[in-house]
Amino acid sequence: MIKFPIYSPEEELHLPLFEEKKVQVFIKRDDMIHPFISGNKWRKLKHNIIEVQKQNKKHLVSFGGIWSNHLLATACAAAHFGLKSTAFVRGEDIANDSVFMYRLYGMDLIFTDRQRYRDKKALFADHFADDSDAYFVNEGGAGKLGARGCAEIIDELEHSYDQIFCAAGTGTTAAGLLTGIMRKQPQARLHVIAVLKGAGFLSEEISKYSEGLTNFDLHTDYHFGGYAKYNDELLYLVRDFVSATGILIDQVYTGKMIFALMDMIRNDKFKPGSRILAVHTGGTFGILGVKEKLYDLLR
Ligand SMILES: *Cc1c(COP(=O)(O)O)cnc(C)c1O
Repeated sequence: MIKFPIYSPEEELHLPLFEEKKVQVFIKRDDMIHPFISGNKWRKLKHNIIEVQKQNKKHLVSFGGIWSNHLLATACAAAHFGLKSTAFVRGEDIANDSVFMYRLYGMDLIFTDRQRYRDKKALFADHFADDSDAYFVNEGGAGKLGARGCAEIIDELEHSYDQIFCAAGTGTTAAGLLTGIMRKQPQARLHVIAVLKGAGFLSEEISKYSEGLTNFDLHTDYHFGGYAKYNDELLYLVRDFVSATGILIDQVYTGKMIFALMDMIRNDKFKPGSRILAVHTGGTFGILGVKEKLYDLLR
């Protein structure tokens, strides 16, 4: 086993809306696992790192953009576990907070144009075919091993719930949660909030990584224009939530999930007495992606 003790409590949220609608809302604090090896990115890396150690590999190779929670987690986890890390980064070299942090944690970066970035297996083979230490980690940590780690979120729960919410990019986290729900909380319904536009394809992805499970609702109307897009309403929701709870959320993932949750509660989608869990999937560093905009808004 690997040494990485984690702390991720379930906390009840007390907001006026929840009291008014007589629902109980809790949040699973996976953001507290680690500042950068955070949330679902640790969950998705965990079984990959166990595999790396089993296979005696020494080098994590992965893929992502210039604001990737996954690359930040991978760089930091590699440093923590004494591994080397390399990332193929989509696009041009740019100085932003994330890229700076990747480098600070010792990750080698290979900036790759969008065309070549598409074929990840080919990129890996071109650069690392002869490197027996190198281990391929899919973009976003997506895949079966990733889902297995995310199922453990449900195994850890101390209470039972009627509704469980998560944000989705690749759908791996949702697939893992679904597997865990079937195992430990079969009464719960999973609500998956897609953060990108045209995310109908996610249904199939989620089923693929969860051995065909389909008992979830995919919500595709809370993307705010697409991946990493936002408007003032979303940023105000983030500000209101953070200032009312003391829990930091980002506008790319958890902000959209909380927005959806509040919207559905406001519209009486859940009976009084319902017990609802929001999974905080971490990634709070992403708030720096809108810091200029927030300076203006909060002044
Ligand atoms: C990456 C990420 C997600 C998306 O997870 P998937 O498994 O790709 O669906 C959700 N929330 C946060 C905070 C993330 O960083």
